[in-house]
Amino acid sequence: MDPKKLEAPTCQSCGIPLGRKEDQGTNADGTKNREYCIFCFQKGNFTEPDLTMDQMISKVAGVLAGVENMSEEKAKIVADSIIPPLKRWHE
Ligand SMILES: [Zn+2]
Repeated sequence: MDPKKLEAPTCQSCGIPLGRKEDQGTNADGTKNREYCIFCFQKGNFTEPDLTMDQMISKVAGVLAGVENMSEEKAKIVADSIIPPLKRWHE
């Protein structure tokens, strides 16, 4: 992933960019949530509340390997650097 992309607001759960409104999660009152994406956070709740950080790293590595055309090894290293600092995993 291009490190410059990470300067934009990113989901504090999975690290995807939140530049587009349709990618932003939703609060219980239907407003947009600017910290989490629509895949992680809908109507005020995490879509997968029991997901662990390790599971998220594997999931994101899988997505990166597909979308960014990285080797699985490289994708794991990248995911390992993106996910642990995010806010969700420090609460
Ligand atoms: Zn997310």
